[in-house]
Amino acid sequence: ALRSVLRTKVHLKAGHLCYSSSSVPTVKLFINGKFVESKSSEWLDIHNPATNEVIGRVPKATQEEMLAAVDSCSRAFRSWSETSVLSRQQIFLRYQQLIKDNIKELAKSITLEQGKTLADAEGDVFRGLQVVEHACSITSLMLGETLPSITKDMDTYTYRLPIGVCAGIAPFNFPAMIPLWMFPMGMVCGNTYLLKPSERVPTCAMLLAKMLQDAGAPDGTLNVIHGQHAAVNFICDHQAIKAISFVGSNQAGEYIYERGSKNGKRVQSNMGAKNHGVVMPDANKENTLNQLVGAAFGAAGQRCMALSTAILVGEARSWLPELVERSKALRVNAGDQPGADVGPLISPQARDRVCSLIQSGVDEGAQLLLDGRNVKVKGYENGNFVGPTIISKVTPGMKCYTEEIFGPVLIVLEADSLDDAIHLVNNNPYGNGTAIFTTNGATARKYTHEVDVGQVGVNVPIPVPLPMFSFTGSRGSFRGDTNFYGKQGIQFYTQIKTITSQWKAEDATLKSPAVTMPT
Ligand code: NAD
Repeated sequence: ALRSVLRTKVHLKAGHLCYSSSSVPTVKLFINGKFVESKSSEWLDIHNPATNEVIGRVPKATQEEMLAAVDSCSRAFRSWSETSVLSRQQIFLRYQQLIKDNIKELAKSITLEQGKTLADAEGDVFRGLQVVEHACSITSLMLGETLPSITKDMDTYTYRLPIGVCAGIAPFNFPAMIPLWMFPMGMVCGNTYLLKPSERVPTCAMLLAKMLQDAGAPDGTLNVIHGQHAAVNFICDHQAIKAISFVGSNQAGEYIYERGSKNGKRVQSNMGAKNHGVVMPDANKENTLNQLVGAAFGAAGQRCMALSTAILVGEARSWLPELVERSKALRVNAGDQPGADVGPLISPQARDRVCSLIQSGVDEGAQLLLDGRNVKVKGYENGNFVGPTIISKVTPGMKCYTEEIFGPVLIVLEADSLDDAIHLVNNNPYGNGTAIFTTNGATARKYTHEVDVGQVGVNVPIPVPLPMFSFTGSRGSFRGDTNFYGKQGIQFYTQIKTITSQWKAEDATLKSPAVTMPT
């Protein structure tokens, strides 16, 4: 039976799985093991960002449907939390194989709804898959601690136990990876899970839910609801939900952190960023410029770890013209077109916002070295495209510096020394990621030691840790105290029970009550 599951490809046609046969395709809810059509009267359109055509509709789940989903999680928790760790491991072993087998289909759905290039969409799935693979080592990750003989005949040991129903609220920019940071880690620990994907890219999450069901996850262990604020408030308020994992903007993340925490839940909240790449004049020029261009404009800059701000130190200032040339060479096109490097932004509103932030830089005295605002993509004239844009002579007070742009825009600052560069980075409120480009070990050591950012790359532009570590954004980019995946992810999704036991030989039994603290 296992072999047949491993070899069978899930039938992943979106029409079959998530959409009804009506003329306006609709995304289903996943409640108690069934893909069900919502009875909601409120629906949101899903657009293809390359054309702005409406390609589907997603419901704002009704209160009744959300209650049914969380009740299903609560019921399933009773048996799932008692399922052996080996059985849970087997389900996730099958799951990782199903994801691998269907990576191209998943990527297609991502490109259609999110816009990123197909190759990048495969990377989105692959980085999530690595978390599932990591979850498969749960038999080691969930080990407790023991200390025998803490006093005569007495031993202490701990169990790591699931906490109950957990919930995840996901953003639009990684439709596969970020949901896969959430429910696999939560569920493999024995929790049940309520997922709310981004309403802008819901289909990939539905495909992932179907595959998890096919891998053997029992009904109710994962439920998926859709919606916006009402769904988020529901998750923050429902008392059966014990923990919330959020990834998205600061506006939503701080609100969810506060509301969820007030209601007694654990909340981990990964939020926005302004990641600086410090370029030292001794860096390998060829490598550095290519890294910068890829990390600034890949995924049209819609990555929380995009390297959106360059600080050119000393003589590295003279590399600007070459940086512009390399950026110009990137091909802007629909994500499913061969050779596309930079796809569209998620929505016309996102495009307008990015364009107005570019204009704000010009108005405030920065220099626009490359302007992607008027880019035309043949055959996709209605898409939300912005081409690679470079703004130099930016200073910290400018709006294009203080706000996260989340588009294909690289802003460039200058510094006279490494100390000046570190000062700039440490004075920016965000702390998601940063990178230094240098060939000098002492420079790299000083930077990694003194910079106050949670994830630091040395000649690595996007230093997102693999899942055996944790995603450790800090300061304004994170709320909470335990991070996503890795050891911290296991801590987030478990609680510890400590058992102290004494087994005395018959002749050592206490003869009278002990009323003082043992010493
Ligand atoms: P978003 O905050 O708009 O949406 C994220 C989720 O929150 C969605 O499910 C949405 O329905 C919900 N939501 C949106 N606005 C809300 C509000 N006001 N109140 C309650 N819920 C709300 O984020 P997005 O635009 O989908 O994603 C982009 C943002 O996510 C960027 O800021 C990016 O840096 C950040 N991000 C961070 C990380 C990280 O790990 N630090 C990773 C990916 C994306």
